[in-house]
Amino acid sequence: MARTVTEGFPIKSFAGITIITNLLSSTSNYYSYESRNIKYIVMHYTGNSSDTAKANANYFHSGSRGASAHYFVDENTCYQSVALNNAAWAVGGTSHYKHKDCRNLNSVNIEMCCSGGHVVSKKTISNAAYLCAELCKHLDISAGNVDTYVLRHYDVWDKSCPAQWANDNSQGWADFKEMVKRILNGSEGLTVTQYEELKSEIAGLKKAIEEIKPKIYRYMDNNMPEWAKPTVQKLMDRGIISGVADNCLDLSNDLLRLIVINDRAGLYD
Ligand SMILES: [Zn+2]
Repeated sequence: MARTVTEGFPIKSFAGITIITNLLSSTSNYYSYESRNIKYIVMHYTGNSSDTAKANANYFHSGSRGASAHYFVDENTCYQSVALNNAAWAVGGTSHYKHKDCRNLNSVNIEMCCSGGHVVSKKTISNAAYLCAELCKHLDISAGNVDTYVLRHYDVWDKSCPAQWANDNSQGWADFKEMVKRILNGSEGLTVTQYEELKSEIAGLKKAIEEIKPKIYRYMDNNMPEWAKPTVQKLMDRGIISGVADNCLDLSNDLLRLIVINDRAGLYD
């Protein structure tokens, strides 16, 4: 699956953000082509503590930087720096590729800007997901193919980029791809922000339920409080309590307290 791209600036806007194209990279920072076959979309972060799309576009606008990317996205804006028919210098520069196929020549590269502490904010990630989804549509990458054709720099070679997603089981990366798929499926009755809010509310509820769930002690193990063990042992030794069916004690916290109180009152002496 690959799409021949001749148009340099096919995406005009996404999620209400107009892509600005008046601060293009110097031609000394990328390979120029009339057209090229694009298969992959690769996600990056700028790695600066805090920066903007405009500042990055400006940096690459003049001089030989030895690197480049097609898009820079921050919380409110997006600059396209390199036309899509040209190959940005974004995932090259190593002889130790992790990915067997993705290279500068067949990829589109999106840089996410940082919002302080070298971290890409949720807002920027959400914007990047919408841009990524627009590019998927343009490149005929369906939701079912996102896992194959949307990559991190970290997947192409072992670079910690984007740093906050650069490990093999990154939840943030999985969430990002789910966001892109949801946008592509068009099945989102919720905006990404609403979805995130709902997700954190559900997580909060789960935690609250966990906290009010009555504690049941099934065995005399590390789980059982030390203060209860002598009494439970005593009653087990005398055959007064024993595990039912599969030898579980199934003592609730209240029951545990009650038998210990009784024991201390001398009822089992
Ligand atoms: Zn990168």
